[in-house]
Amino acid sequence: MTTPLDRRFVADAAAHRRDAPRFCPACAAGLGIATEFWEADERRFYCSCTACGWTGEITPTGDVASGHEPDH
Ligand SMILES: [Zn+2]
Repeated sequence: MTTPLDRRFVADAAAHRRDAPRFCPACAAGLGIATEFWEADERRFYCSCTACGWTGEITPTGDVASGHEPDH
């Protein structure tokens, strides 16, 4: 018996496959873990590299990098 596919999350799953970081920013090995979570309207990926031990969060910013200063 198979469970029917829940279509509500198909777009989120496709976006995750498209956007999840694949390689460690420290040593360029394939990442062991890239877990996506949301904080307000930001998507974040908690990442861990099994090759060098690096861990960190990566936040996609869209077309341009986002700065820390308020708009002026
Ligand atoms: Zn690494």
